[in-house]
Amino acid sequence: MTTIADRLAIAHSRIAQAAQKCDRQPSSIRLLAVSKTKPVEDIIAAYQAGQRCFAENYVQEGAEKITALKATYPDIEWHFIGPLQSNKTNIVAQHFDWMHTVSRDKIAQRLNDQRPNELTPLNVCIQINISAEDTKSGIDTDQMLPLAKLITQLPNLTLRGLMAIPTATADTELQLKEFSTLHKLFQELQLHYPSIDTLSMGMSNDLDAAIRCGSTMVRIGSAIFGERNYPA
Ligand SMILES: *Cc1c(COP(=O)(O)O)cnc(C)c1O
Repeated sequence: MTTIADRLAIAHSRIAQAAQKCDRQPSSIRLLAVSKTKPVEDIIAAYQAGQRCFAENYVQEGAEKITALKATYPDIEWHFIGPLQSNKTNIVAQHFDWMHTVSRDKIAQRLNDQRPNELTPLNVCIQINISAEDTKSGIDTDQMLPLAKLITQLPNLTLRGLMAIPTATADTELQLKEFSTLHKLFQELQLHYPSIDTLSMGMSNDLDAAIRCGSTMVRIGSAIFGERNYPA
């Protein structure tokens, strides 16, 4: 039987191989373990195998897991990667360390206003819509700079970079096209804000293309925790 620890090790070696193929340092790519829909026992198993960053998609589910694990595992870094309605921003502001899917001024402003004073600023990525499918969330590319400007003016937020969910496709050419578009935007944003360091892209099935195009943070769920029972 393959364990979570085995699958985590396999994920790390996939990252290392993909990095080597394009002359990048494997250590320049962080692995974010996407634990949505999975029980806290699975998170603990990954923690015991050395994993420290976990990502959740559903705000209530995420907050419950963080509350359950915070005292025993204070060194876990929690990332929110799901869609967020503005009436739930307080839950993200109070519990998470990172928020990857900011795509509106109103959400940024509320996260800033609701971030408790005793916490460090919330790390934020702007979600860009690079997908050919018009159902995907994220902002249009021409809105990136105005939103970045707002975020950098908010004291309780720290702009870290960009995130995207590309078209779900096995077509490597399309994957590369979308990821390189995002990489170009990232470079453009870095000209304005040299301290940004995060390009959050790549999942279980498009890891190689994402790393080739400069991803610094890959979000891997099913390849570590197994298939999910309900789609997400
Ligand atoms: C579910 C999810 C992932 C992980 O997807 P897998 O295919 O299970 O690796 C990554 N990013 C986002 C935004 C997700 O919702």
